[in-house]
This record gives sequence, structure tokens and C-alpha cells, in this order.
Amino acid sequence: MKEKYSLDQFEYFKGRDLSHSLDSLTGILNREAIFGYLEYLVTNKKTCSFFLVDVDNFKNVNDTYGHMVGDVVITQMAEFFVNMAGGKGVVGRYGGDEFIFIFEDVEEYKDVWNIGHEVNNRIGGIVFEGIPNLSVTVSMGIARYPLNAQTSKDLMLVADKALYRAKMKGRNCFIIYLPEKHANISLKRDRDKQLTQMQLVHTMFTALTANGEDISLAINTAFKSLISYYMFDHLCIEAPNGLNHGIIYTLSNQKRFEHIHTELIDALISPAGYAGISNVSGLDDDLFEEIKKKYEEQNIKSVLYCKIAAYGENYGYIRVDACNTNRIWQNGEMALLMNAANTIGLLLHYQNKRLEDLPFVASVEAGSVE
Ligand code: GH3
Ligand code: MG
Repeated sequence: MKEKYSLDQFEYFKGRDLSHSLDSLTGILNREAIFGYLEYLVTNKKTCSFFLVDVDNFKNVNDTYGHMVGDVVITQMAEFFVNMAGGKGVVGRYGGDEFIFIFEDVEEYKDVWNIGHEVNNRIGGIVFEGIPNLSVTVSMGIARYPLNAQTSKDLMLVADKALYRAKMKGRNCFIIYLPEKHANISLKRDRDKQLTQMQLVHTMFTALTANGEDISLAINTAFKSLISYYMFDHLCIEAPNGLNHGIIYTLSNQKRFEHIHTELIDALISPAGYAGISNVSGLDDDLFEEIKKKYEEQNIKSVLYCKIAAYGENYGYIRVDACNTNRIWQNGEMALLMNAANTIGLLLHYQNKRLEDLPFVASVEAGSVE
């Protein structure tokens, strides 16, 4: 496999034989080689930033197009990363759909931020051979040496925590590790994640049905359990007469959300009763001009709506807003919210009520809800 780029400008790689250091699929540095480089930087106390990069929902690419196409996608992404890093950074494949970038001498927050931002911004521009309509995104966890850790192992660990946070924030984004914000993140394995999600389904359904007599209490209790787990910026009920039962995530930068007329929302909704829009500024039909303006005013980048309906009657919507990222809505979270919407619909139906009959509950921050 031919080396795809020259690493001679880096002291460590000068004159080094890389013939056994390349990943067989992509031709970029393999895991051992990139970690060898990191070990050298740490041993010699050379400042660097370390990016752990994971492709979002890559299983969908394999499931939709097959593993061979998946291989082509991984290979083209590797080429893209190498071009992005230019002569300034070193790129390796950690394994699977995960990559590592190392930028020597880069540790200023704003410099690291600029690189992360550029990757997220430009990655949508890759045109994949034979699948021109495919668009991929990545999530990144970024750690800095020696600021965040003293060994390569610990640097990887904290980058992993930041990556975990980026996935939970909705993917298609990067998180620069800050100990005061991220030190307490516990990394969960797939099995634990599944258990947590099942627990969440149980908690949400119990909250809605056990408090069913008091629909307002039922909604608030259920929403409280959802907002922190998924780190949504804002979760609320969009009723025909206004915005109700809103919870704003404690860490959200945006604290001001307003009503959007339900007639405007109706136009977005799929026949299955939901709309998950990752990039609201991409809504280019004239029909959506007004709603787009509302999103811009509220700094909203992504929205998810689930219709609250029962027996052919439409009551309103559960609305979720994301402000910092173009959130890639996941099937699991959409299914859970759809279930919540259907359960609320049934509660309203059997109690012969409408959302407008419920007492007004203004948006509050997650931390202050009892
Ligand atoms: P997430 O957004 O949470 O990262 O979702 P994901 O679907 O990308 O899940 P994850 O990163 O956990 O899984 C990566 C998948 O990548 C698992 C495997 O099916 C696929 N994969 C790993 N290595 C290869 C490879 O060499 N070729 C192909 N085609 N697929 C691979
Ligand atoms: Mg992935």
C-alpha cells in the first residue's frame, strides 16, 4: 500500500520506514503507528492536540449500501482527512470508523476550535464514488497535551469522554475536553447504553401513566427524565394557543424560546406524524420561509416534532430544539418521543381534554424542575 502523503516535515517521521505502519484499507497510518507518534510527543514533552474522530451512524451506510461501499466511504474519508490536515497534522486510523488526528504545537483553544469547525463544515462536501447523494458527518472528542493529561493513555481516555459527549449532544459536532465540564463523564459500553435506554423508556412511560390524572404533572415528569439524558436544548409542548410545558437544558446557551404556530408546523410533518430536521436553514421551499425566520430568531439549528394525536384528533406537538449543533436525530430518541406523544394523545382523548385546557406551565431550566 502506497503512503498517501509525506510526513517528512515532522521530526519523528523523517527518514522513518513506514512500510509496516500503514492501515491496509486506507493507506494512512495504522493504530500502532499513530500511537507511536503520540508516545514520542509525550516522552519529549511536545505540546499537541489529539482528535478522536468517529463517523456518525456509519452502520447505516453499511446497512444501506453494503460493506464494500462502506469500505470505499472509509477510504475516501481518510483521504479527505489527510488533505484537511495538510502538512500541519498527522492522521491515522484507530480502527473501524474511528480516526485520530494529531496536531503538534497546537493547543490554544481557538486554534483547536478552528480545526474542529473546519472538519465539521467541510465534510459534507465529500462526493463519494458511485453514491453522490450520500452525505456523512463526524463527531470529535478533542484533548490537549499537556493541558489535559500526562500520558498517552490518559489523553486517549479524556478524548473519548469528549467524543461521548459529542455523540450525546446530537453528533455532527466536536467537543474540546474541559475538565470542569467533562471529567465526570462515565464511558458506557453498548450493552450499558442499551440498558440505560430501556430504563428511560420505562421511566418515561411510568411517569406519563402513573400521573395520568394530572396530565400537566405527567408531561413535566416525563420531560424531565428525557431532557438531561439526551441533552436537548429545549423540550416543550407546542399547543395551538402557545408554547407550554417547556424545559430548557441547564447547559443550553439559549434560554429564550417562543411559540411557533402549529399551522406552520403541520406543513413539515410526515404522514407518520413526525419531522426531524437536522439543518433548518436547509429548508428552501417558499412554504417554509416564515417558520425558518422563527427558527433564526430563536437561534435554532435543528428541530424535532412529534404529533400528539389520538383517534384521528390532532392536539398539538412535542417540540425539541437544538441550538449549537445540526443534530442528527437518532431513531431511538425519535421513537421514544413518538411514544410519549401518542401516550399524551390517549390521556387527552380519554379525559376529553385539549392541550389548551391544561394550566399554562412556562419554560424552566432543567435544574430547577422538581
Ligand atoms: P455512531 O454515530 O454512534 O458512531 O454510530 P455508528 O453506526 O457509526 O456506530 P459505531 O461507530 O459504534 O460502529 C461503527 C461501525 O462501522 C461498525 C461496523 O459495522 C462498521 N465498520 C467497522 N469497520 C469497518 C470497515 O472496515 N469497513 C466497513 N465497511 N465497515 C466497518
Ligand atoms: Mg461511528
